[in-house]
Amino acid sequence: MEKIKTRFAPSPTGLLHIGGARTAAFNWALARKNRGVFLLRIEDTDKERSSLAFEKAILEDLQWLGLDWDEGPYRQSERLEVYQSFFEVLKKKNLVYPCYCTPQELEEERTEALNAGKPPRYSGKCFFLSPEERRRKEAEGYRPSWRFRIPSGSEISFFDLVRGKVVFHPASLGDFIILKSDGIPTYNFACVVDDALMGISHILRGEEHLSNTPYQILLYRALEFPLPVFAHLPIILDENRAKLSKRRGDISLRSLRERGILAQALFNYLFTLGHSFEEGKEVLDREAIVASFSLSRVGKSGAIFDEEKLRWMNKIYLRKTPWTTLRGYFQQLQGEETLEKLVEKLGSERFTRLWSLACEEASDLRELWQVFRGFVEKSGKVVLEAERLEVLRFLRKKVEQVPCWVNEEEVKSILRAWQRESGVKPAMFYKTLRLVLIGREEGPELHRLLFALGREEFLARLSDVAKDEEV
Ligand code: GLU
Ligand code: ZN
Repeated sequence: MEKIKTRFAPSPTGLLHIGGARTAAFNWALARKNRGVFLLRIEDTDKERSSLAFEKAILEDLQWLGLDWDEGPYRQSERLEVYQSFFEVLKKKNLVYPCYCTPQELEEERTEALNAGKPPRYSGKCFFLSPEERRRKEAEGYRPSWRFRIPSGSEISFFDLVRGKVVFHPASLGDFIILKSDGIPTYNFACVVDDALMGISHILRGEEHLSNTPYQILLYRALEFPLPVFAHLPIILDENRAKLSKRRGDISLRSLRERGILAQALFNYLFTLGHSFEEGKEVLDREAIVASFSLSRVGKSGAIFDEEKLRWMNKIYLRKTPWTTLRGYFQQLQGEETLEKLVEKLGSERFTRLWSLACEEASDLRELWQVFRGFVEKSGKVVLEAERLEVLRFLRKKVEQVPCWVNEEEVKSILRAWQRESGVKPAMFYKTLRLVLIGREEGPELHRLLFALGREEFLARLSDVAKDEEV
C-alpha cells in the first residue's frame, strides 16, 4: 500500500480550539498508526487576519499535546509563486476567467438571489464579457479576481471514509474565485495545490469543510492531480447541541491548559469526540490510542463536547501523574513558593500523603492547588457554636491520651471510638472535626486526612481553633 501522509493545515487567525485540536490529533494518529508521515502547513494567505503570534501559539499547543510533525511547517505565504504557476496552467487551459465585479455588486447579486429564494451563488456574468469589454474594464483600472468556471455535466461524487458516497450536482455550485485581485490564492486553490504537491494521501478535516470538497475535486481534475482520500469528521456540538464554535468560542487549548487540564487527559479526550474504542473503552494510553485508532470507528453524527466528562478524565490522569511532573504548572500559579519548598516544610512523607488526598478531590490543577493549600494552611477563623465547642473540648482531651498513630486503620478505629464516647451524632462529630482541620465540613475521609496530617499537626490545629474560641 502507498504510504499514508496526512496533514494539519491551520490558519493562524486565532488560537487552537477543541475542533482544530481534534482534527490535528486524528490526522496525527492515522499517520502514526500506519507509520506514515504527518505534515504541518500554515495557511496564512489571509494577511489581515493571520499573525505570527497565533502561528507560534498553535505550534506550541500542538507540542504541548504531543502531536509531533514529521514535515513542515510550511507557510503558504512563502509559496505564492507556486500557486501562480498553477494558475497559469489553468489559464492556459481556459478554465478560469477574470471577474471585475466589485464587492458591492456581488453583495447586491447575493441579496437579490436570496430575496428570490435562490441559493446565493455567483451568476457567472463576467464569464460572458467580450474581449472588448474586458479591455475596457482593464483600461478603467479594474484589477480582476479570477474565477474557475464550473464545467456543466455530470455530478461530482467521492467516497468519504466517514460519510460514504457524497454527491454534488454541478448546478448547485457557482464559479468560484481561485485568485484574488491582489494575486493571493484563495483557500480552495492553495489547499489543493499544496495537498497535491506535498503528496497528502488522506485529508481528515471538520465537516464544515464538506461544502468545499466539490470545488477542490474540480481543481484536482483540472490540474490532473490524483485525488486523495477524504474523511470529514463530525461537527462538535456543545451540551445543548448547538455548534461549539458559535456558542462556546472560549474553548481554546490555552484556556483549558490554564484551568489545569493535563495534556494527556485532553489528548485522550479528543479521541472520544466522534471516535469510539472497542468495548466502550474511553481511557486509553497513547500507544493504545494509536493502535486502536481507525476511521471506521469515526461516526457521522455530531460529537458532544462535554466539559464534565473532560474533567472526569482529567481527574483520572491527575491521580496517575507524579507531582514532580507538574512542577512547571504550579510554579506559574504560586510565583515564588515552589513545591520543593513545601516538601521541605511539610516533610516529604506528609507532603505526598496530603498531595494524593488532594488529587482524589480535585479535577483540575487549579482545584488541586486550592484543595492542597486548604490542607496545609491553617484555615481562617472558624466560628463554632455550642455543640461544636463541646466536640472540640472533647477532642483536645482525647488526643492527649493517644501518644501516636501508626496507620490509617488505627486512626479510623480511634475516631469511631471517640465519636461513640462523645455521644454526639456522627454527622455533627465528623463535620466539626473537618471544620476544625480544614475549615470546611465536607472533604476527604477523616481518618486519611488525620493520618496524612499527623498527630502533632492535628493537635496544633485543635489548639489554634481553641485559642480563637477561648476554649
Ligand atoms: N486552513 C483551513 C482551516 O483551518 C484548513 C482546512 C482543511 O483542512 O482543508 O480550516
Ligand atoms: Zn464578475
